[in-house]
Amino acid sequence: MPELPEVEHVVRALSAVVTGRRILAAQLNLKRIAPGISRPAFDRQLRNTVITGVGRRGKFILFKLESGHVLTTHLRMTGKFVSLTTDQSLPPYAHVVFYLDDDRRLVFCDMRQFGRMNIFKDPLRLPKELKTLAPEPLTDDFTEDYFLETLSRSRRPLKHLLLDQTRVLGLGNIYAVEALFLAGVNPMKPANKLSKPRARKLYQAIRDVLQEAIDAGSTLRIDLADGNGSYFETPERFWRVYEREGEPCDRCGTRIKRVVQGGRSTYFCPQCQKR
Ligand SMILES: [Zn+2]
Repeated sequence: MPELPEVEHVVRALSAVVTGRRILAAQLNLKRIAPGISRPAFDRQLRNTVITGVGRRGKFILFKLESGHVLTTHLRMTGKFVSLTTDQSLPPYAHVVFYLDDDRRLVFCDMRQFGRMNIFKDPLRLPKELKTLAPEPLTDDFTEDYFLETLSRSRRPLKHLLLDQTRVLGLGNIYAVEALFLAGVNPMKPANKLSKPRARKLYQAIRDVLQEAIDAGSTLRIDLADGNGSYFETPERFWRVYEREGEPCDRCGTRIKRVVQGGRSTYFCPQCQKR
């Protein structure tokens, strides 16, 4: 499943291809991708409008339209966009097709069909699931003060808190455990029991792991022309602790441990992350 850095790469790739393009028609082939909108309404609201930009809020992709509408897309598990010429055949699971004015089609494919699209008429009135998201982690909105305050108000284990997108945005399971390792902080520790100096380290670690993942974008190779498979089945990335149970810690040689928290695996070094 793509995490924030991967979605950021999709946004950048999309932006290069569709910004300034006019949508000539929007064909919703699989109704469940855009619940709450009929097929004709989907087309009507998107047809003949220019895509003025592509942005991101958390893992939501936002297509900004000249009409003032915003089309949101969440890729969930296997959603992906493909950019095709008109004579290329459609890839499998082509659930939504946007016909653009440069003789290309932007196709949304999704094998598992969990991806979702929605259209909002007023960008200032985005739905609750977007409005309740915590500040963007790599912007000035996500301040150290905000993070310290958020920790002090929660007794939940740190790992749980880091995965709660309404508190700290952008960390999925991988980046949460990597950030905790980088900061040398115990994932099971109640958030409000973390000392300020260690909380500051964790704050920096969160930004560092996300930035590092975005900078490592070359390993992601988002290719909008590739209709096969997933964007994200890419060569092995190096993780410090994630999926390294039983392997020696890079820092101290202690074997990495795995525990299950809230149904998901947490990897950590019992020596470096004692407290
Ligand atoms: Zn260690």
